[in-house]
Parts: sequence; structure tokens; C-alpha cells
Amino acid sequence: MAEALSPETYADCQLCPHRCRVDRTRGEKGFCGAGAVLRLHDAMPHFGEEQVLVGEGGSGAIFFSHCTLRCVYCQTAEMSWKGEGTDTTVERLADLMLELQRDGCHNINLITPTQFLPHVVQGIRTARARALTVPIVYNTSGYERVSVLRALEGWIDIYLADLKYVSPSVAQRLSGARDYPEAACAALTEMHRQVGNLVVDERGVARRGLIVRHLVLPGFAEETRKVLQWIARNLPRHTHVNLMGHFRPCHLARRHSPLNRPLTEDEYRAARQAAREAGLTRLDTTHERLYPLVWVRREAPKEDEPPWQAGNP
Ligand code: SF4
Repeated sequence: MAEALSPETYADCQLCPHRCRVDRTRGEKGFCGAGAVLRLHDAMPHFGEEQVLVGEGGSGAIFFSHCTLRCVYCQTAEMSWKGEGTDTTVERLADLMLELQRDGCHNINLITPTQFLPHVVQGIRTARARALTVPIVYNTSGYERVSVLRALEGWIDIYLADLKYVSPSVAQRLSGARDYPEAACAALTEMHRQVGNLVVDERGVARRGLIVRHLVLPGFAEETRKVLQWIARNLPRHTHVNLMGHFRPCHLARRHSPLNRPLTEDEYRAARQAAREAGLTRLDTTHERLYPLVWVRREAPKEDEPPWQAGNP
């Protein structure tokens, strides 16, 4: 199936639901702004992901430049919006995977790789031929095409996918993609078909399966509730779900009230309660353990209070 993801794909790019149909090999740019040369921002052992991915050795993170969404609260705008990074080769990508495995990482965590999938598949193939054995994690916004995901079957062990919204108007306003809910919901269904529920080894480290993430946004409790209900109704109740509570007003968020302030502890706890009420039984505890340490305020700001000033510019 990987033939569907050959480098020729870039000549008529339809890798994500935007389906721009630009010829990236001739310098044309689509919504994501990516060219036809593989571009990476960073690679390192990462200890800030879910505990089931981090274990003791860390998750082997490889950050891809560019992104297929334009979230106004993006925490990595230099990499994702501006495409900052370094042009590189498939061979170097395979080297990085093997180096991260040698460093003791439990997996290779491909962060926002969609716009470079032909290179990604070649890189995995090359690295596996050179004794890469740790699981491959596909870390995505969830904005994917099912036909493209089908071409990934057998290459990916763990899908780590967001479900950000289920309302098209919210998706358009906050991420520039009205069809995000339709695409992400179909993608999650396909991902679960391929890899099933999360399986961990005797150390509690993930080996295979689906992890669904949802970033809890300040002032969007109803959207969070709808997202959790969708998961509970359309995936097994035992799906591993990570409710992330680390929202800070990054990038353009300060212009988009109510995203111009951090999430409160009360809002986060309400989201976890909503997950339980929806019937979800396997909530990740990584962020619940970490984030009480960094919450700086417990109350939402008053109407006339200026936006919170901390966080990334
Ligand atoms: S990967 Fe980029 S160029 Fe290709 S369809 Fe998606 S946004 Fe357009």
C-alpha cells in the first residue's frame, strides 16, 4: 500500500483533506506551505508526552516542519506556521530514528508528519531494514484522509491523534478547517480499525494501539463535552483518552477571547468529570499529575482584567 505514498505524490498533493492539488516538486505551495524536500525542526528524547510513551527512556520525538492546520493558539508557530527547520534527506531521517532507539527511547514519535508522508514511509522502511524495532507513533492533529491512512497500514504501531472539535464553525474559527470534525472523526475510526485499543507491556509502556488527545480550551466546555460524547459513542469506552490541561494563550490566542487566558483548574476538572459522565473509563493521568504543579490561578479572570501575559509570544 505504501506505493500510494511515493514521492510522485508531491506533484499533485492531496495528502491531507485540504487536497490542494499543487505541484510541490515545482515549487508550488498549498495550505501547509511545505515543499517537496523533507524538512525537520528537531529530534530528541521527549519526556513531556504521555507516561505510556515516555516510560523511563523517553519518547523519540521527531518534529516535522509545517502543518496542515492553522490553530490560532498554536504552541509551535515558528515550526508549524512559518515552517522553520532544516531541509534533510530520508537517509538522515532513518539515522535519527536509529539514534533515538540507541539513546534508549521506547518509540519513534513522528510529530505532525502528514505533509511529508512519502518521505516518512521511506524513512521507516530504511530504518527497519537497519534494525529499527521500537514502535512507530503517528502523532497528528487528526486532520487526515482515510485513504491516506489506509496506505499507512502496517507502518504505524501507535496512533496518537487529537480530536480538537466536533463543531465545524469552531474548527473554522480556531484552526482554519471547517471540515476538521468530519475528517478527524473518520480518521479516528480508521486508526482504531488498524491498531485497536492501546496495549502496554509489562513496564506499562505502549506497544500498539490508539491514544486520543483533546486539549481542553478555556471557555469551550460545551465543545469538550461534545467531543467526549463522540468518542464514547463511536469508539470503545475503554479507549485511552488524554485530556490535556496545559493550554496557555500562545501565538494569536490573545486576540481570540476566551482563549486570551490560561485554562483554570476548575475548567480542567470539569472536563474530566464530563469524560466520566460520557462513560469513558480509561483517562490518561499524566497531565492530571503534572499540571496542578503549574496552574498559576484557580479562577477565570474578570471581564475588565487585561489578558494574561505569560506564555509564548
Ligand atoms: S499536505 Fe499541504 S499541500 Fe498537500 S494537500 Fe495538505 S495542505 Fe495541501
